[in-house]
Amino acid sequence: MKRRTKIVATLGPATDEVQALDALIRAGVDVVRLNFSHGSQPEHIARARRVRERARALGREVGVLVDLQGPKIRIHRFREGRVDLDDGARFVLDAGLPAGAGTREAVGVSYAALPGDVARGDILLLDDGAIVLEVEDVKGTRIGCRVVVGGALSDNKGINRQGGGLSAQALTDKDRADIGVAAALRADYLAVSFPRAAADIHEARALLHAAGGNAGIVAKIERAEAIADLEGIMQAADVVMIARGDLGVEIGDAELPAAQKRIIQVARSLDRVVITATQMMQSMVENPIPTRAEVFDVANAVLDGTDAVMLSAETAIGKYPARVVQAMGRICQAAERQRLTTQSARRQSMRFSRIDEAIAKAAMYTANRLNVKAIAALTESGATPLWMSRISSGIPIYALTRHADTRAKVTLYRGVYPLDFDVTIADHAAVSHDALDRLVQHGAVREGDLVIVTEGAFAGVLGGTNAMRILRVGGSS
Ligand code: PGA
Ligand code: MN
Repeated sequence: MKRRTKIVATLGPATDEVQALDALIRAGVDVVRLNFSHGSQPEHIARARRVRERARALGREVGVLVDLQGPKIRIHRFREGRVDLDDGARFVLDAGLPAGAGTREAVGVSYAALPGDVARGDILLLDDGAIVLEVEDVKGTRIGCRVVVGGALSDNKGINRQGGGLSAQALTDKDRADIGVAAALRADYLAVSFPRAAADIHEARALLHAAGGNAGIVAKIERAEAIADLEGIMQAADVVMIARGDLGVEIGDAELPAAQKRIIQVARSLDRVVITATQMMQSMVENPIPTRAEVFDVANAVLDGTDAVMLSAETAIGKYPARVVQAMGRICQAAERQRLTTQSARRQSMRFSRIDEAIAKAAMYTANRLNVKAIAALTESGATPLWMSRISSGIPIYALTRHADTRAKVTLYRGVYPLDFDVTIADHAAVSHDALDRLVQHGAVREGDLVIVTEGAFAGVLGGTNAMRILRVGGSS
């Protein structure tokens, strides 16, 4: 069986050589992520162009996700590049201190309003929680802290508050400029970092549309506030990412497994797509095989129902970018063989608001109860295969479309495979048979197999799906 769970891999210096990029694509990457926290705009534009060029050459569909940096609050630089903080020592975060002036006593911060956002007793976590500070007093620009957990602290490390609530707005000036770049490179997905509420997502979408972009918007769930208003933020977005790195710092790492399960479940019930991210195969930055714990983490995300699993440093700067994709792929496939992943138990009370949604879900209900080999969804925007993929199933869903951007978008949906098919030149009366021919030609089905085809009365019309046919390959009906 083909792998259903999709793999998102971050591009970086480790994948810039064409051989490395080809190996990554051949290993089965579905979506690449351009991390705008690092690298220059021309670098990202070049990477997007190259990956599409190579994917085309290798006959693969690969989506492109632009991930905005967002308002991550950071300390400034130190005079010596780093300092060692002793447990119990006093340390000041000073919004008035220039970059590069940091010492063992004090360091600057990138967010001038920080002193107004914190109060005595707050716990601040630096470097993803490696350093812990407790706020003792705030005077003017200076936040006086006691070092609770010390250690080495180097330039530009991130700052989070335990429990969340730092008020930096979600879209920075850099993000606004980068949205223009995302539109120019025709990103398939745009990820918003640290959104607090639905308004941040709406704003990003409006800016993207104004710049001429049409990417799906990904809400990264990485603040305590986003967890508090999960449904609101998901309704506004197309996709959610469980950004376990920052989220774990804000809500506490022990809360992550429960949060992950809840986010996946809510996303699927709202017909949203979900990516599970961060440290999934972390040890493979250095090592050629994953730890047992990593094998379990990837498999458990698959069993939880995630659409995609994501790689960050593992592919961007790791030693084994292609090998980590292969390893992740085989773990996903093995997990998908468990019955739990193919059975749809939910939605006894499911109601449909649209005809195309009703057809999509009825097709899955049928497919899961009849010996069907494949589903062919003739689609314009990809909405039909999206609805289909919200229902757990072991049957492959082929998204047949003439639109390259729709093919790139469905690369993220669990169990959905894009196929080039021009419905407008197919014979109108026989379009479903042409679709079957396309599946046969692709090697997806053969003589005698049952296939479900969904289509509209007027081919090529958005939202027009209103029929489902059950056809036998080589049959006359
Ligand atoms: P990042 O987001 O890699 O951009 O920080 C993901 C996360 O926080 O887990
Ligand atoms: Mn993050």
